[in-house]
Amino acid sequence: MNNHIEITQPDDWHVHFREGDMLEMVTNFSSRINKRCVAMPNTQIPITDSNKASIYKEQIIKASKNDFEPLVPCYLKDNLDLDDFRIGLQKKIFFGSKLYPTNATTNSKHGVSDISKIFKYLEILEEENSPLLIHGEKVADNIDIFDREKFFIDDELNIIRSKFPLLKIVLEHVSTSYGVKYIKDNTNIAGTITPHHMLLTKKDVFFDQKINPHHFCMPVVKNETDLIELRKAACHDNSKFFLGTDSAPHHIDEKKPDMSSKPGIFSAPCSIELYAEIFDQENAINNLEIFSSINGARFYNLPINNSKIKLEKTEWIVPELSSYKDIKVKNFYSNKKINWKVVN
Ligand SMILES: [Zn+2]
Repeated sequence: MNNHIEITQPDDWHVHFREGDMLEMVTNFSSRINKRCVAMPNTQIPITDSNKASIYKEQIIKASKNDFEPLVPCYLKDNLDLDDFRIGLQKKIFFGSKLYPTNATTNSKHGVSDISKIFKYLEILEEENSPLLIHGEKVADNIDIFDREKFFIDDELNIIRSKFPLLKIVLEHVSTSYGVKYIKDNTNIAGTITPHHMLLTKKDVFFDQKINPHHFCMPVVKNETDLIELRKAACHDNSKFFLGTDSAPHHIDEKKPDMSSKPGIFSAPCSIELYAEIFDQENAINNLEIFSSINGARFYNLPINNSKIKLEKTEWIVPELSSYKDIKVKNFYSNKKINWKVVN
């Protein structure tokens, strides 16, 4: 029985840092354990050029306490400046690019409505060996909210992959067994998995014609069978899946018990501990490191961190809220017990 483990310092390949005071609070949590984080570009004014990306990176670095590196993808939209896009990738100002289908999630109204309009950018990404990060949901009136991932894979991702076979793709926050299988069966594609998609099912979100807004995220959590496949993919025999929390804070006032609520789950205050809990439940605590600290760096051809962190088997209760200045955000897993804790 392991009572403590030491692992290579993790990276979180999917975080929403937001802006202003929220950014300061979130950075504090995400930089407490991670060496690198992908800072998603769906800010209120999306990050669509290299100047915005440089400024955003500086803001996050300034707010972080430790030696910490934010990686900022370029937000894809129909009319980017092609030269700026290429140079931003070459100079590593951009960490690849992020595809948000229009209206799939928070601040995605400027996203991509028709994938053929972004082929010119995908060509550049492929040429520059830069990754495409995807929010893989197809949004349409006739597509059920629980089927969006499958429709995106069948109707859009297949086209992207056949047109750009060398393009490196990450299907972010994989939420279905269908998505897991697709990643396993194909080349040049990997996936991030959040803690909440391995802990919740749709019953934890939708009940009595209401929703629990603190469990409401995009893509929405799915069925028990999906949860089981996601756990297997992360915890066992894994080389294609890695840590990406999709930690996505909203002020508590923006969380409402119906579909008008802003989607997003804030897990940064307990993220690595929750993953440890899940891996322990799966009798796979020794596989945590490859998921949290190795697979992502390998897929992205980045160095593996040389520092370590230590986790101990110690019970603690996740606090209800994270607060900073005027900001109050409900923590995921609040008032629940976790059996693992990071120690210095
Ligand atoms: Zn996200």
